[in-house]
Amino acid sequence: MSRILVTGAAGFLGSHLTDRLLAKGHDVVGMDNRVSGQTENLDNAFEHSRFSFYDHDVTEFIHVSGDLDAVMHLASLASPVFYRENPIKTLKVGALGTHKTLGLAKEKEATYLFTSTSEVYGDPEVNPQPEDYRGNVDPYGPRSCYDESKRYGESLIRAYRDQHGLDVRVARIFNTYGPRMRLDDGRVIPNFVRQALTGEDLTVYGDGEQTRAFCYVSDMIDGLVALLESDIQEPVNIGNPDERTINELAQVVIDVTDSDSGITHEELPPQDPQVRRPDISKARSELGWEPTVSLRDGLAKSIEYFETQL
Ligand code: NAD
Ligand code: UDP
Repeated sequence: MSRILVTGAAGFLGSHLTDRLLAKGHDVVGMDNRVSGQTENLDNAFEHSRFSFYDHDVTEFIHVSGDLDAVMHLASLASPVFYRENPIKTLKVGALGTHKTLGLAKEKEATYLFTSTSEVYGDPEVNPQPEDYRGNVDPYGPRSCYDESKRYGESLIRAYRDQHGLDVRVARIFNTYGPRMRLDDGRVIPNFVRQALTGEDLTVYGDGEQTRAFCYVSDMIDGLVALLESDIQEPVNIGNPDERTINELAQVVIDVTDSDSGITHEELPPQDPQVRRPDISKARSELGWEPTVSLRDGLAKSIEYFETQL
């Protein structure tokens, strides 16, 4: 069993990952400054004697006492609404936070896993996106604080691997949803579910013909753990290839919630990617992983949680 640092532990994915690692018998050190995370996401973890928590901003020097076998760096602003409001914090956590956590992993001789993103592919000109697609990102565009911080993070990880021989993993995560997302997070599934449950119109941005492919959280955590336990030092896409238009997603949410809500169209945020879908051939063949939870089943589980938050 190992001792593992999870940054972003109070967030959506970080808290589920923490619970999974504790259930597998690991010791977990959580770290978060709660800029977008919520302490109650860790209620279960705090019950464990094998869990400890540092309230710390990862862009500042990190000191963790004792050994670490792995560092999993999830801390970031992750919702387009939050990162557009906080572009400097977003750049700092992807750049300085990644540098600090890499330095810690080197010091502790720990395996390092970085949660990169499908946004490294920007507004893609190929669909689905395989890992060797180099992307279409506007470095001066409105989403660049996020996209470029993650691209810089990947580059820094490559440098630590090449120069220091650090054992690294890079997960390129595609849109993921589930319980513990904040209802005010601004991402599409919490928005649509909140609107459907309260009888408001669902706000589809643009014509709604843009696509995304949504992965349920338990599948994502399976994928991240499989990647950590592998020896793949190259980026791997983790996501669900079930691609939907946003119009289709709105209809599914209305059906699953049995809501009377209608749909209104609002302005499309600038440079909103037109298509997105992971090519997961590599994860299938090299990790033996693929998602198993359907959109309807995943939404049903998420809705149970969101209802408790209203
Ligand atoms: P989240 O906002 O729920 O969690 C991120 C956590 O990081 C929050 O608890 C936040 O407080 C913390 N954090 C941010 N800046 C910090 C700092 N400077 N110091 C310490 N803690 C800090 O987001 P999430 O959806 O759980 O995302 C987790 C990771 O996965 C992120 O790195 C994100 O970029 C990546 N990712 C997520 C998705 C997705 O669809 N959920 C898609 C692609 C990539
Ligand atoms: N979107 C929408 N209505 C909302 C929120 C988002 O139509 O209330 C759209 C958004 O424009 C994008 C897609 O849904 O095309 C996914 O947005 P999200 O913010 O969840 O994440 P992204 O994939 O853009 O990072």
